[in-house]
Amino acid sequence: MRRSTGFFPTQKEAPREAQIISHQLMLRAGLVDQHCSGIYTWLPLGVRVLKNIETIVRQEQDKIGAQEILMPTIQSADLWKESGRFDAYGDEMLRIQDRHGRDLLYTPTAEEVVADIARKHLKSYRDLPALVYQIHWKFRDEIRPRFGVMRGREFLMKDGYSIDRDEASARASYKKMMTAYVRTFRRLGLTAVPARADTGPIGGDLSHEFLIVAQTGESELFYEERLEGLMANNEDGKDDVDVDDILNIYAATDEIHDPKTCPIPAEKLKVARGIEVGHIFYFGTKYSEALNVNLAGQDNKNIIPHMGSYGIGVSRIVAAIIEASHDDRGIIWPESVAPYKIGLINIRVKDKACSKVCDELYNDFQNAGIDVIYDDRDERPGTKFADMDLMGIPYQISIGPRSLEKGTVEFKNRKTGATEELTLAEVTTRIKKRFVT
Ligand code: ATP
Ligand code: MG
Repeated sequence: MRRSTGFFPTQKEAPREAQIISHQLMLRAGLVDQHCSGIYTWLPLGVRVLKNIETIVRQEQDKIGAQEILMPTIQSADLWKESGRFDAYGDEMLRIQDRHGRDLLYTPTAEEVVADIARKHLKSYRDLPALVYQIHWKFRDEIRPRFGVMRGREFLMKDGYSIDRDEASARASYKKMMTAYVRTFRRLGLTAVPARADTGPIGGDLSHEFLIVAQTGESELFYEERLEGLMANNEDGKDDVDVDDILNIYAATDEIHDPKTCPIPAEKLKVARGIEVGHIFYFGTKYSEALNVNLAGQDNKNIIPHMGSYGIGVSRIVAAIIEASHDDRGIIWPESVAPYKIGLINIRVKDKACSKVCDELYNDFQNAGIDVIYDDRDERPGTKFADMDLMGIPYQISIGPRSLEKGTVEFKNRKTGATEELTLAEVTTRIKKRFVT
């Protein structure tokens, strides 16, 4: 994309109401525009990041055999009245009436709809296990929307649901999903700690929140430090995950952590603040019972399936990545989610020879299918460098008349800040080797 013709509204200063760094940088880099409290328009650069995250989430869901569906965002209240949640959900649920006075709502989650699909379309225990997910918008009328998309009212969520014949099978689905989560967060360049979380009235040990350790996190967690190593991205890209190993290491949210009963001595525990980016939950027959999901069991006895639900805060993750990866110049995107992999800077647009080389390189990358943003504006070089860093572009190539005289270009790594003088041929080969598959 050419900067001169594209829509990339960057800003030098962040509005004063943006309190945390991710919110400031998302506004400054032109990722989002606030529409009203807790509701945002995603601008071109932001959409590209969101899509990249979605793709990783989707691939890892598909890999464990989950199937993608799309449920309505506006739902009939009838199912929610059956489950009792139309009233119980409280003020976070946005209730609407249509022209006939029928109650509708904007979906804050979708257990009821999944249970309804199950009772209509699944006949017997042989149809189980079933694992479905969607990546779709949710609305929760949060009492205090804040920190930009971190706690919005409208937000993008991956919500997955498992349906199993019994608890043992549900436990297996839960672990499968946990495996997918570990792989997903690794690929997103995040170290997410799976902390045991409150299961509410259902009890049991099957609820985990995935938390990114960050000062600005709204949750508190206690965990053994060695868990971080297991969860982190390993350099060689291996996707081995031993869920039982992970489950054996202590980590808990403050809601359930009790120093009196904790098996790990306090001095061996890390206490930190965390951003909740995912939540997995086994809730037994709560919704299948409420909605009368009955399937034929083995010996002609009916069974009520066991369910679980599995959320990932896709739009919140954009902010969480920035909280975890930035410097005083701006965002530092992990390659996997970067809106463009390559930033090409034409230092002197008015210099014909320089523009010719830049245009050719740009076309070459475009034809090779490489995501490149080309700053071909007639602006000061300093402005262009600052914008590329603000937008977090991982690899930046700068070309000006002076370097061309020497037959070289400057190649910069955003993350390390290291720069190299390379010939055009060297830079082209290196980038194609890395990004053409
Ligand atoms: P929180 O405690 O942060 O309100 P939650 O427990 O209500 O989260 P879930 O119902 O488990 O969240 O939803 C799944 C995921 O959706 C969360 O882990 C989080 O990443 C994301 N999420 C929840 N609420 C919001 C919100 N208001 N804005 C952005 N993302 C959200
Ligand atoms: Mg909430």
